[in-house]
Amino acid sequence: MGEEVVLLLIVDGMSYSTLEASNTPMMDYLHRKGAMLTNCVVEAIPTISRSAHATIATGAPVEVHGIYGNKYYERKNGKLIGFGPKHLRAETIAEVAEREGLNVSVLGNKGLGLSDITQEMHTPGDEGGAKAIRILGKGASVIRVSDNTEVLEEARKQILEKIRKREPISHKQYVELDNVLAELVVETLDTEQPDLLMATFFGVDKASHGYGPTSREAIFTMENFDRILRRILLHLEEKRTKVSVIVTADHGNTEVNNYIDIVSLGREIDGVEEIITEGRRSARVYLEDDADREFVKDELLRIRGVRDVVDVYWDSEKVGDLMVFPGYSSTFGVGLITTRRSCHGSPAPSDSVVPLLYYVPGMKFEKYVIVRQVDISPTISSMIGVSPPKDSVGRSLFSPFR
Ligand SMILES: [Zn+2]
Repeated sequence: MGEEVVLLLIVDGMSYSTLEASNTPMMDYLHRKGAMLTNCVVEAIPTISRSAHATIATGAPVEVHGIYGNKYYERKNGKLIGFGPKHLRAETIAEVAEREGLNVSVLGNKGLGLSDITQEMHTPGDEGGAKAIRILGKGASVIRVSDNTEVLEEARKQILEKIRKREPISHKQYVELDNVLAELVVETLDTEQPDLLMATFFGVDKASHGYGPTSREAIFTMENFDRILRRILLHLEEKRTKVSVIVTADHGNTEVNNYIDIVSLGREIDGVEEIITEGRRSARVYLEDDADREFVKDELLRIRGVRDVVDVYWDSEKVGDLMVFPGYSSTFGVGLITTRRSCHGSPAPSDSVVPLLYYVPGMKFEKYVIVRQVDISPTISSMIGVSPPKDSVGRSLFSPFR
């Protein structure tokens, strides 16, 4: 084990409502010891995993890093394409660190391919998945996700089996997966001795989707994450490794009770070539060449529960001509097997303002009341002593560098 490590732990879909409803003694303890807990704005719209993981990795806005969401519709052959590391156009923190001779390990249990079989039968793009982890970790010497570790792969198989049998998936299985990942984190800290370790735990997002962000189940999963944090920090303390830690979410979650079948309704509008949902609180509209844009916008706005329709000005060949967002308690997710209680993807604060806790032992910092997700990568840069990724537009929360 090295003498010092920086941890970035991403709690997928952790909204303020979940955190505030939960008992988190470890995070509270860090807070008392000088950790900052503040509001982090997710500017990558849609507010979903892949775009947010790319922003965290690069410190760049979406139009620069090129990961516009989880997926897009390829017009020329009518296929859905998932965004992956090959679409990433900006430099990542892992690339900078490895070039400077540091070791970076990146882990995640997100790549389960569950949404293909459950909620997304009508749009086969994978939600989040292993690709979010591969985007976050692009350039890292160690990347461990469910498709390249036996333990996670086994856990994945068991959950898929339940889905096939149409048996309900208990939040306890997601908690179990988070615990499996926690042990992998501990093992990786010992075997790889990384200078920077980044890991994404997806339990809270899944429990929020299934039961709601302030449900007993989401709280149970959140509180389990706090125990995971304690487990990891105690392990490092035993090894006398100095640890600095950032805990945040890639995006939030919004409780929903109004379900809008935007895909079916949108396809009926004259001039719409295709419409796909992203995170279920946003949708992309691809127009036909001769479409009357203003007419389509008006028709979309007439759909009950639609709140906003906005023009897309960059890369519209790929990411569509319009984006549509639902109102505050609505979703475009119409589940075929399970009903979602919570979704994300929109610019509403419940989706786009998430907790950010950062801690360096023995250091006190000026409190920033609001930070941006693009600040995370420059902050990590100053913690590990390298320059920020070159397209990053954020600032270090630890400047001047210690
Ligand atoms: Zn999610």
